[in-house]
Amino acid sequence: MLPVAEALNIVLQYARSLAPAEMPLGSALGRVLAEDVASDIDSPPFDKALMDGYAVRCSDLARETHVLPVAAEVMAGQVPPPLPAGQAIRIMTGAPIPDGADAVVKVEQTKSLTDGRVQFNGPAPKSGQNILPRGQEMRRGDVVLRSGIRLTPQAVGILASVGRSKVLAVPPPRLTLISTGDELVEPAERPGPSQLRNSNATMLLAQAARAGAEAAYLGIARDRAEDLTNLISTGLKSNVLVLSGGVSAGKLDLVPQVLRNLDVEARFHHVAMKPGKPLFFGTRGETLVFGLPGNPVSSFCGFELFVHPALRKLSGCADVKSTWIEAAAAEPFKHQTDRPTYHPAWLDSAEGKVRVRLVPWFGSPDLRALVSANALVLLQAGSNEYTAGQLLSVLPLD
Ligand code: AMP
Ligand code: MG
Repeated sequence: MLPVAEALNIVLQYARSLAPAEMPLGSALGRVLAEDVASDIDSPPFDKALMDGYAVRCSDLARETHVLPVAAEVMAGQVPPPLPAGQAIRIMTGAPIPDGADAVVKVEQTKSLTDGRVQFNGPAPKSGQNILPRGQEMRRGDVVLRSGIRLTPQAVGILASVGRSKVLAVPPPRLTLISTGDELVEPAERPGPSQLRNSNATMLLAQAARAGAEAAYLGIARDRAEDLTNLISTGLKSNVLVLSGGVSAGKLDLVPQVLRNLDVEARFHHVAMKPGKPLFFGTRGETLVFGLPGNPVSSFCGFELFVHPALRKLSGCADVKSTWIEAAAAEPFKHQTDRPTYHPAWLDSAEGKVRVRLVPWFGSPDLRALVSANALVLLQAGSNEYTAGQLLSVLPLD
């Protein structure tokens, strides 16, 4: 059976970065930048006061003189007059330094005299003190962001500071989601004796949103070919179609057949993993199609292991594979499984070491256990005994 790593490589082989598009800065958070961005200005654009206080010439305060007349006042946003020799100018944080001044003495080190002059009480100022020189942060023409980075809040901040209200970036992948199953009712309904609530749609939409996709829910397809065909035909217009349920060996697991009838080419249908061995992946044109098994934890894991990396690739990210870490088992345990198992786990740190412990979990329907997990730990097939401190491979979930 196909190992997870190979299945992931197949998925990534068919997932291609979407074409970049110009977008308003307000929609660019989390997107991957598709151009180098240079500054159109020096920043700061002028020598700038870093403190509220007095702009002075150091040489005027080098000798015994500690009292100077105040020539003017300058606020942020104003253009100051030049500083006359032997005088000071009251200056506020952010205001341009007057010509002739070479330091700012902070207001806490001064006293205003009743005759309007100012007395300096601190040490003699040093040239450049409390002044941010023009261009210290960036010079006009400096490349401040390179193509390929993922836009963080601080990156959109710098784009704003270099005057960009639009930016060329990779748009979010459009994902559509279909739940399947005759037994499902939507969360607002009370399930009848043979029914259960559709938890997967809400969960998978949340996972898609967290992965930066623009997700749309198409509803529940009942286990009939016509119903599935209708919804899947709509879903195939998106970049990624995700279905939950209907992909295993039951009589009404019609999803793979309906997909084939709609010209979706199957790339694989089973993966050597637990939970969720039946996991369909196919393509039609550029559209990626994932049929995740219906049990909630299987759906969840299938999304994190395959759909999430594919969304990163479509989003233009350079590092698309999830970051696995090593953590020490917090306690000894035994575990038996016939396939590599992605077990819900709790990751924390003690005395500077990252450690992990399994959370009690009875299998793929047990979504409740997953709620107390913040990681998945990979356990190999076999009947294995683990010692405390043994290093395990862990996928943090948030
Ligand atoms: P299936 O993969 O369709 O055979 O479904 C496997 C199990 O998952 C069955 O017990 C289903 O009732 C359950 N299941 C399927 N879809 C959902 C869903 N959307 N939400 C919660 N459970 C589901
Ligand atoms: Mg089903």
